Amino acid sequence: MSLTANTLNVALTIDLHSHSNISDGLLTPVELVEHAAKHHVNVLALTDHDDTGGLGIAEIEAKRLGLQLIKGVEISVTWKKRTIHIVGLKIDPEHPPLKSGLAAIRAGRHVRAAGMAAGLDKVGIMGSLEGAYQYAQEGIISRTHFARFLVNSGVAKDNKAVFKNYLVKGKPGYFEHQWASLEDAVSWIVGSGGMAVIAHPGRYDLGRTNMLLLLEEFRALGGEAIEVVTGSHTVDQYLEFAKYAHQFGLKSSQGSDYHGKGISFMEMGRLPALPSNCIPVWQNWVETKSPAVKSGESLQ
Ligand code: AMP
Ligand code: MN
Ligand code: MN
Ligand code: MN
Repeated sequence: MSLTANTLNVALTIDLHSHSNISDGLLTPVELVEHAAKHHVNVLALTDHDDTGGLGIAEIEAKRLGLQLIKGVEISVTWKKRTIHIVGLKIDPEHPPLKSGLAAIRAGRHVRAAGMAAGLDKVGIMGSLEGAYQYAQEGIISRTHFARFLVNSGVAKDNKAVFKNYLVKGKPGYFEHQWASLEDAVSWIVGSGGMAVIAHPGRYDLGRTNMLLLLEEFRALGGEAIEVVTGSHTVDQYLEFAKYAHQFGLKSSQGSDYHGKGISFMEMGRLPALPSNCIPVWQNWVETKSPAVKSGESLQ
């Protein structure tokens, strides 16, 4: 039996939210897994936006390096006219409704990209569609790819300025878009055998009443957990969402939401532990048990 961190009863480093260049991350799936290994991550979920195309190759690399790869996805959802993100963990990417649902979202992204570019054309910023696609060769087209074009062509000084001045509501590169429904996203994930998790809830400008409604509806649809510790939450938000999780009987997840150097809130392998009153979403996962349990041996 090989000695892993958990055999020695050392806490595992678990990161359940990350992106490769199949969506808007900078690293290839293989490079991402290598990066995670370098930062001592033991259990990693690859959760590309609306695309599962990196999971196969990531899993092979993870096996090679002795990491546990959790198959994931981050689905774009429109709920009450707002965009929210639902992470699926332990999904089966071949589940037909999930596969076709994600394909439809990706098709919608092309339409939206054309609309965003038309808006930028109108204010004299030309060539953004071709420019953005140049950065999106491996998979989906996203606002991040437009951001790269706008920064690299000197229109905006950095990513932050782009999102503030160009790609959000009321700005020239914003294009209203309808993503999947919450009901569909959760049912695709759960139907594929996975667990649905509300990504970075602290980033939605919902107000308390709508947050409560979202949590209620999400749980009723079969949602399992919310991200309590994520790269974009403050320490206060860890505690706030731990409370919500407890109140709604939801489990808690943690993930860096790593996208690559310079465009991530947090480096991999640096997440603090979940607050102690949280039930981890990985509580019963075989990937977080010691090899002795996996091979069926008794722990008594
Ligand atoms: P999209 O799904 O095409 O709307 O793109 C959303 C992605 O843009 C997110 O997943 C982030 O990676 C990135 N993003 C959104 N808002 C910001 C922001 N304010 N600053 C930097 N990146 C952002
Ligand atoms: Mn992203
Ligand atoms: Mn997200
Ligand atoms: Mn993400």
